[in-house]
Amino acid sequence: MSDPPTNIRALQADQVLEVTWPDDRVDRLRYHLLRSECPCASCRNEWTGERVLDPASIRPDLKLVGMENIGTYAVQLAWNDGHSSGLFSWETLRALGDESRGPV
Ligand SMILES: [Zn+2]
Repeated sequence: MSDPPTNIRALQADQVLEVTWPDDRVDRLRYHLLRSECPCASCRNEWTGERVLDPASIRPDLKLVGMENIGTYAVQLAWNDGHSSGLFSWETLRALGDESRGPV
């Protein structure tokens, strides 16, 4: 289990979700990445993990319209395309942060 972020901020103008971790690492996750990596059952095949959603179909003016903590382990993100079933665990956010950072 990852420790929860100490802060999550939506930077709407930049389309970036800024996540601050207890170890002071700050990840800036692009909305497009988050939306395309949505882990819910309609965007991703539950068994194979294969992506069902076509990233090209994501609207360019993507905005976050809601953000809700799910217990102490995840955050649920709601988008202006009407999609809100994606639960992003801290592990997932952390992994996406690694990914957007690229190889160290
Ligand atoms: Zn989804």
